[in-house]
This record gives sequence, C-alpha cells and structure tokens, in this order.
Amino acid sequence: MQQQPETTHRHDESISVTAPSGLKFGTGDKFYVEVRRRVDQFFQATGKSRRDCPQMYLKTAVVLAWFAACYGLLVFVMGTWWLALPMAMLLGVSMAAIGFNIQHDGGHHAYSARAWVNRLMAMSLDMLGGSSYIWARKHNGIHHAFANITGHDDDIDVGIFGRLSPHQKRLRFHRLQQFYMWPLYGFLPLKWQLYDDFRDVATGQAGGRPYARPKGWDLAVFLGGKGMFFSLALVIPLLLYPVWTVLLFYLAASFVQGVMLGVVFQMAHCVEEAAFPMPHPDTGRMETAWAVHQLETTVDFARRSRLLSWLVGGLNFQIEHHLFPQICHVNYPQISPLVEQTCREFGLKYMAQESLSASIASHFRWLRRMGNSSS
Ligand SMILES: [Zn+2]
Repeated sequence: MQQQPETTHRHDESISVTAPSGLKFGTGDKFYVEVRRRVDQFFQATGKSRRDCPQMYLKTAVVLAWFAACYGLLVFVMGTWWLALPMAMLLGVSMAAIGFNIQHDGGHHAYSARAWVNRLMAMSLDMLGGSSYIWARKHNGIHHAFANITGHDDDIDVGIFGRLSPHQKRLRFHRLQQFYMWPLYGFLPLKWQLYDDFRDVATGQAGGRPYARPKGWDLAVFLGGKGMFFSLALVIPLLLYPVWTVLLFYLAASFVQGVMLGVVFQMAHCVEEAAFPMPHPDTGRMETAWAVHQLETTVDFARRSRLLSWLVGGLNFQIEHHLFPQICHVNYPQISPLVEQTCREFGLKYMAQESLSASIASHFRWLRRMGNSSS
C-alpha cells in the first residue's frame, strides 16, 4: 500500500501547550533530515505501512480479550483468594499492555491514518481511569518535546519523592531512593485516577503549564471514562464482594500496572547512559538540534527480545519512538538498524542496553547516584 510521506513533527503541533520560556533547539539538524529520508525510503521500498498495520489490529484484539478475560474471571469466577490474587496481577499486566500498545500508539496518531481510529484507541486510557486528553498534552506536548530537560519535562519531576535529574534539589531521604522508588511507581495509576486528572481539569494546568480544559465531547469522554472505570473497578465488584476485598484487588491490579508502566518508561530516560542537558545560560537555547537531543537523552533496551517488544509496545525502541512517534510501533524493530547505522555515520552515539536486566540495573545505579551525590 502506498503511504503518505512521513509527517513526524518535532512534537505534536496539533496540541498546544504554552512553553513559558519559548525553549528552542540548535539548528542544522542534518542527521534528522537524513534518517527521515532513509526511513521514508524503507517504507517505499518494502511497501510496508507506517500505520494501519494488520498485526497491530490483531494485537489490539488479543490484548483487549486478555484484559476482558482476566476481569471476567476475577470478578465473576474466582472464588478463592489464592486464585484471585494472581488473576488480579495478570489483570494489572493486561492494563499496562493496553497502555503500552493501544493507547500510546493511538495517542501519538501512530495507530491509523484515520483520526477517529487513533482517538478511539487513545480512549482505552479513559477506560482504565486515566485521561487521553490530558495525557496527550503532557506526553506529546511536553515529554516528547523536551525530553529530560529539567523544569520542562514533567516525566522526570516526581516532586519531593525522588531526585531523577542532577539539576533537581537533593533531600536527605533521597539516599534511599534506589530502593523505595520501585514500589512507589505502583501507586502512579491510583494517583492519576483519583487525583491528578481532576486537579489538572480544575486548575487548567497540565504538567505545570496552562492548557485548554476539555470541553464538549472531550469533557464527556473524560467524565464517561472515569464513570466507566470506577464502575468496573469498584461499583460492579461491590455488588458481589465486601469493601475490603474489592479495595485489595483494585490495589493489587493497579500496583502491578503502575510498577510496569513506571519501570518501562524510566528505562528509556532515567538511566546512567542518558544525558540531562539544560538550556545554555546566555542564549536560553538548547545547544544541540532537536533530534540529536533525543539521541542524547534516550536509551533503547532488549531490542532482540521479541516477547518483551510485543508486551511493551515497542517502548524498548524508545530512540525510534522519539524520532518517529507517528510510526506504528510494530515497525520499530525494522527501522532500528537504519537509525543505528545513520547515527554511526554522523558520529552520534546510539545507546542501547542489551537486556532488560541491564537496563534495570542502570536505573538502580542512576537513582543511587542522584540520591547520594549532588552531581
Ligand atoms: Zn510516546
């Protein structure tokens, strides 16, 4: 199938987030021009689709069926706690898989050439108690535009709980963050389900920046999503089980989901290999060009693991994702050698960990370093 030319933008320009400092990147991005040309050529030569990939539709059906089966078995079939607890954990893994695969591609307009399909897929986050509207503002408009830039990238700001960047203030208890951050990731879904999204709508700020609050249809999806999620998570189970049982299993599923989401996203940017550059103090600009900045701040991992790549929606190919966020993730393994080769020719570092365990170890060491020294 003939594809449209690639329309990847430096960040999603359809979503406006006010950038108070008007942060700009260096010019002369010859690498980006060349890598885009090669990726365009790859799709032309192979006839593959950037979006609307059949395996993505199949994967969506499998992941949603997995989620529905776990939910149905947990709520309506499992009678004993020792069967129900692993099922709740498996439900948590399926919810993380929906986020990694379906919602993330939909939210980036990488799923389909049709806007409504992307929107529908992105709305899987609303079903899971989040907000696709707010997520798009934070993730596309802020994180992808300003990866690892302290004071701009909301993803590296966890408040007083941890120090993820050398430009953040170190507090005494951060010296133990390499141990306590992992379980804290487990509470992230609860935080956005119960607090963050409502706060962002009430204050009109997302990721610390003003944004257009959801109105009309967007507000209906926001409220409908929350209503559907809390019906599934709490109201229906409460018709069958005591409160403490329902809360316990809600917590178990959310915790597993949160740890998976937190760990997979941290592997890409919060590891020893990644840089945390800041704007030049005189010019207020970033010194490197935007695509080079993405390479310096992003690390791939376990690229040869097909199982992991399937489960985490290609988020182990974060370099490819940051350079080409509007290409469906099922294509990343094939464009990865092109990106790596182009980096080599331009003398740019392409950073990839061999395995998930190497990446986890690197995140642990990064947390330890950030919590124990001021540099
Ligand atoms: Zn993304």
